[in-house]
Amino acid sequence: MARLIDGKAVSKQIKDELKETVADWKTKGIEIGLAVIQVGKDPASSVYVGNKKKACEYVGIRSESYELPEETTQEELLQLIERLNQDDGIHGILVQLPVPAHIDEDTIIRAISPKKDVDGFHPQSVGALSIGQPGFVSCTPAGIIQLLKRNDIEIEGKECVVIGRSNIVGKPMALLLLRENGTVTVAHSKTRNLREVCKRADILVVAVGRPRMIDASYVKEGAVVIDVGIHRNENNKLCGDVDFESVEPVASAITPVPGGVGPMTIAMLMYNCVEAVELSKA
Ligand code: NAP
Repeated sequence: MARLIDGKAVSKQIKDELKETVADWKTKGIEIGLAVIQVGKDPASSVYVGNKKKACEYVGIRSESYELPEETTQEELLQLIERLNQDDGIHGILVQLPVPAHIDEDTIIRAISPKKDVDGFHPQSVGALSIGQPGFVSCTPAGIIQLLKRNDIEIEGKECVVIGRSNIVGKPMALLLLRENGTVTVAHSKTRNLREVCKRADILVVAVGRPRMIDASYVKEGAVVIDVGIHRNENNKLCGDVDFESVEPVASAITPVPGGVGPMTIAMLMYNCVEAVELSKA
């Protein structure tokens, strides 16, 4: 039976540590401000934005909410971002993705000052990560590294396989595992013999975006399995990219969905907001 990797518990631990730092800074007159921008009323986005605001409240970060109508133009959104870039009371800017189709996501990501890029999506942040320099790291993969470390799962020297090569999960995940001295393989939709590739993994990170695709036939006995996926199944219950019932008896440790990677993403957003204050001083 695999050990359950409890993302809720680790996320709380991180938020509690940050809460102390934030409270300490408050006594010195520093208050962290996060601007959260949502364009339109996508229900899933509203849930994510709500959870981010709740986490801010818990940690003691001031969140400023901008709920813009669906028909907001790209120019209007860019003007708001520019105003927030100049605002010394705002340390982090987050635009909840996806944005409506008439707005170019890439232009919006590039418009956010790299010093306030708490999502870690700006090309400057991505570039810094790839050459091993300090900067914001995409929250989900950064959270996975914390989950592994805080559960005493060694990465150095391990065979790590990441399924998925998206800019927000797969690619930064691979870079972070490499930074931790893992031996990293990135698999994607054109990978041949996916099962054999996955079966090499001591640590298998699944960010494939397909409900319950990865069953025990992809997993080596004793592997650590991290499930990034979030979906609703036929009964409207949350499930991941991993077939939990099939994999759990084979793995040595596994993240559940919900309660695994999901809470870590928000904890690392809070971490990045605290980092942003340091960057604003530079
Ligand atoms: P994405 O952009 O859709 O990327 C999926 C990746 O999987 C792509 O690289 C794709 O390959 C690869 N892929 C698709 N089908 C495949 C197959 N049959 N065999 C091998 N590789 C295949 O997804 P994402 O944004 O990275 O997200 C992945 C999952 O994580 C989703 O379920 C998403 O909802 C979830 N997610 C969760 C959190 C969280 O906080 N827990 C955060 C972000 C995302 P190609 O590049 O060749 O197309």
